[in-house]
Amino acid sequence: MQAKGSPANPYNVAIVGYGPVGAALANLLGLYGINVLVLDREGPAYHLPRAVHFDDEVMRVIQTIGIADEMAECVHVNPGMKFIDSDGNLLLEWPRPPEISAQGWHPSYRFHQPDLERLLRNALNRFASVDVRTRCDVVAIKDRGDNVELTVNDLTSGETTTLVAKYVVGCDGARSFVRDVIGSGLEDYGFHERWLVVDVLLRKPKQELGDFSIQHCDANRPATYVRGTGNRRRWEITVHPDETDADLTSAAGTWQLLSPWLSSEEADIERSAVYTFHSCIAKKWRDGRLLIAGDAAHQTPPFMGQGLCAGIRDAANLAWKLTAVVRNKVSDDLLDTYQSERHPHIRAYVEMSVKLGQLINMADPTQAIEAAFPRPDGSAKMTSLAPTLGPGVGLPGLANIRELAPQLQLSSGQRIDDISGYQFVLICEEALLNETNVNLSELTAFGLHVVSADKEPAAATHLSSLKVRAVVIRPDRYTLGRANSPHELAALCCFTRSLIMPLTSL
Ligand SMILES: Cc1cc2nc3c(=O)[nH]c(=O)nc-3n(C[C@H](O)[C@H](O)[C@H](O)COP(=O)(O)OP(=O)(O)OC[C@H]3O[C@@H](n4cnc5c(N)ncnc54)[C@H](O)[C@@H]3O)c2cc1C
Repeated sequence: MQAKGSPANPYNVAIVGYGPVGAALANLLGLYGINVLVLDREGPAYHLPRAVHFDDEVMRVIQTIGIADEMAECVHVNPGMKFIDSDGNLLLEWPRPPEISAQGWHPSYRFHQPDLERLLRNALNRFASVDVRTRCDVVAIKDRGDNVELTVNDLTSGETTTLVAKYVVGCDGARSFVRDVIGSGLEDYGFHERWLVVDVLLRKPKQELGDFSIQHCDANRPATYVRGTGNRRRWEITVHPDETDADLTSAAGTWQLLSPWLSSEEADIERSAVYTFHSCIAKKWRDGRLLIAGDAAHQTPPFMGQGLCAGIRDAANLAWKLTAVVRNKVSDDLLDTYQSERHPHIRAYVEMSVKLGQLINMADPTQAIEAAFPRPDGSAKMTSLAPTLGPGVGLPGLANIRELAPQLQLSSGQRIDDISGYQFVLICEEALLNETNVNLSELTAFGLHVVSADKEPAAATHLSSLKVRAVVIRPDRYTLGRANSPHELAALCCFTRSLIMPLTSL
């Protein structure tokens, strides 16, 4: 047997970058038994906090990966966000209800990014098909047409080697090398600002800081407060153009800025650093055998806490498509639907985050808030975005929905994702199935999970909410298509077969 990564035995997928997005993608590919190589120039995961929020959809991907129980132990349920003016008046509220959402999880979580990265990395130990090489810098990439060559500098041994993979995904962060090789420019959404990010560890509880995130709309010094997990608290504070990073990140400079809320006797600074928040989306997410995901493909100001969330969604969208393609059973045109579906979705978040950033920066945001957010009961309330995917995987004539599907709670008490895994699900009325000439046993052998709306009340409720008799849900939990007649169900099942069959290694 030739060595893995040699031209005769290429990896199916090489992932450049072992941040959260690369690690999530490797896990999802590992679930299908795909041969994966993960490369990162760093050794351990980045140990300081960055992302502090993720949503229920991301928790669902974490559940699919199989680490939700561990993750749930290190999160804090987030009650929401408030925008207040410099006098403390409430301008706008974004409540995140404490109830379990249709996704089967709380709508919004606070977390510590290193906890998630640790769990994602540990979970990869399950997969014999996934190799991880840290302290390996990818310095050149060549798409040879039938595979891709990566030149890798091993920073421990000093050796340079060439490794071969069928596809390469750059999860290599905001300054992505893979994006450069693809030759993608960036669409600019207009927000680029320096903010000081300070994480502190409280020495003792300070209840008055509260659980809500607070956007301080103070034109002199806009700032964000975020309650983290445990005794972690975060402030993100605007930097003025004439201020130097060194002045603000010094202990004296940082405590001066934190003084409205906290004194140096009450907490220890874990990290104080100036970041430039960007708003941009790569123009081209794929070129031949090269793709990008996560911060490599898009960057958003953090006001909605969606940068990492979007990257995890990229991974969930891409992994099943890549699997189908690397098994040589479908055209690689399927990979073009990755950008066409994901781009409009992340654009909705980038645009809203930019809008929120502008509001926070305004001298008097009241009018802008009134114009942007309706006040049905006299108080301005923001609701969560729920963008649909852009056009992508679909059969002409098939009614595609492209919405995120709920996670059904079955009468056994189990949740559908725990049973289906990272696979397709058909929810259907039995009468419609009986009227349709479909070889269901073949589809279930390929991994399709079928839920009867006659036996499962949650399934019946879902179908009736859509006014349909059957739906198919994809492995990333977006709806593939719906059917109301035997003819439509036959077409939907036939289309599902063309997508599910390539996912099996049989
Ligand atoms: C202050 C702040 C607050 C944030 N808050 C939130 C939030 O609340 N919610 C949220 O969802 N997101 C948030 N984000 C965004 C989130 O942290 C990022 O979106 C996320 O970390 C991106 O993950 P990634 O895996 O795409 O990239 P990264 O984590 O940047 O990982 C990229 C990896 O690629 C490696 N690499 C790069 N080039 C090479 C190469 N040539 N060879 C080998 N390895 C290479 C790097 O070493 C790195 O490990 C925040 C970010 C910041 C900075």
